[in-house]
Amino acid sequence: MKQKDVLIIGGGAAGFFAAINIAVQNPKLKITILEKAKEGLQKVKISGGGRCNVTHAEFIPQDLVLNYPRGEKELLGPFHQFMTGDTIAWFEERGVALKIEEDGRMFPESNTSQTIIDCFLNETKKHQIEVLYSQTVKSILKEEGLWNIKTQDEVFIAPKILVATGSSPKMWKVLETLNHSVIPPVPSLFTFNIKDDRIKDIPGVVAQNVEIQVVGTELFSEGPLLITHVGMSAPSILKLSAFGALQLAKLDYKFTIAVNFIKMDYQDCLATLKDLKLSLAKKTVLKAPQFDLPKRLWKQLVLASVIQDDNRWADLNKNQLEALAAQLTKAHFKVDGKSTFKDEFVTAGGIDLKEINFKTFESKLHANLYFAGEVINVDAITGGFNFQNAWTGAFIASQYISK
Ligand SMILES: Cc1cc2nc3c(=O)[nH]c(=O)nc-3n(C[C@H](O)[C@H](O)[C@H](O)COP(=O)(O)OP(=O)(O)OC[C@H]3O[C@@H](n4cnc5c(N)ncnc54)[C@H](O)[C@@H]3O)c2cc1C
Repeated sequence: MKQKDVLIIGGGAAGFFAAINIAVQNPKLKITILEKAKEGLQKVKISGGGRCNVTHAEFIPQDLVLNYPRGEKELLGPFHQFMTGDTIAWFEERGVALKIEEDGRMFPESNTSQTIIDCFLNETKKHQIEVLYSQTVKSILKEEGLWNIKTQDEVFIAPKILVATGSSPKMWKVLETLNHSVIPPVPSLFTFNIKDDRIKDIPGVVAQNVEIQVVGTELFSEGPLLITHVGMSAPSILKLSAFGALQLAKLDYKFTIAVNFIKMDYQDCLATLKDLKLSLAKKTVLKAPQFDLPKRLWKQLVLASVIQDDNRWADLNKNQLEALAAQLTKAHFKVDGKSTFKDEFVTAGGIDLKEINFKTFESKLHANLYFAGEVINVDAITGGFNFQNAWTGAFIASQYISK
């Protein structure tokens, strides 16, 4: 049996960040990270396409929380304690400069996640944090005021532990033995599979700003839309998949979406089309894209409105104008299944937020049991927000663990 002051279960983003910050605040503590894999930080390595989207250039906590379908309310207080700006400063103090991309995502200037990994490994060495690999935690028990942690071949004890095992179903089972409730995991952040003649020949086309509603629900989003080889993607779809993760799982990923490609009311659009019929009378409809829509998309929507290749604006009858207005402002598409977004598996679900004290990230059921990262029922849309959740939770927990 090995006694430590602090045991961190899980050597991922949250686990390493917590261990280093505990050591900074209290160098006397014996800290050990138990990691089941042969190497730690594997998700950091593959994150952001190998570049690691560390955080997001959003510096107002009230706006930052809007990116978290689960955790919006709970993370507001924590973000007032440790924000994106603190993340940037933390890495800069350790020689890792971050850069901002046009869409607000932040990456190491080196453009490789290895920089983040090297930073963490250097810090663990510097602070003499023990990292034990190939140690899969199998059980967690409290005995005589100490935590007793069993791995496949060792027993560790410590007064304080932090669980940072990410979306691990096995660890959620272990945590249920401590009476914690786990919100069942479902995928978040995915693209929609759609087979439809209107989009089958135009992969790669982007409509810059659309509105999408899942028909029969309140689920709604807006933003860019990308037509792909298998359906639709880009922020408007990803946001729907994240905010609708639970509802869409219940629908077994079979539902209908209504897309407003031009963010215009149907009646206003119809009135505009009637004006165009007069002003562009002699022009061929197909060859005169309107509303800043990409040519190829305009063509598909026009053809879907039973307008012929050579029809001029003046030829259009009432039915055709109405059909085109409908295609532009409320085009229905049947979604049948989902695909992973760039291999970025994000899971909604985890330890019930009601059971965590968000001032400290300590369990409300057990003293000296802390959580950080994806193990709790928090997840975000793509953009660096998932890591920010890991950094914030780990930092705040570290302040209390080190006391
Ligand atoms: C391909 C991909 C790309 C991503 N890109 C980004 C991005 O660019 N930006 C962003 O913000 N988010 C991104 N994410 C999400 C982000 O990686 C996670 O939100 C983040 O890693 C969560 O950190 P964590 O420490 O909670 O969990 P993890 O990083 O998953 O770490 C958990 C660790 O615990 C270990 N573990 C599990 N069970 C046990 C056990 N029983 N005993 C011991 N150890 C155990 C695991 O092996 C793992 O090392 C990406 C995810 C994926 C899959």
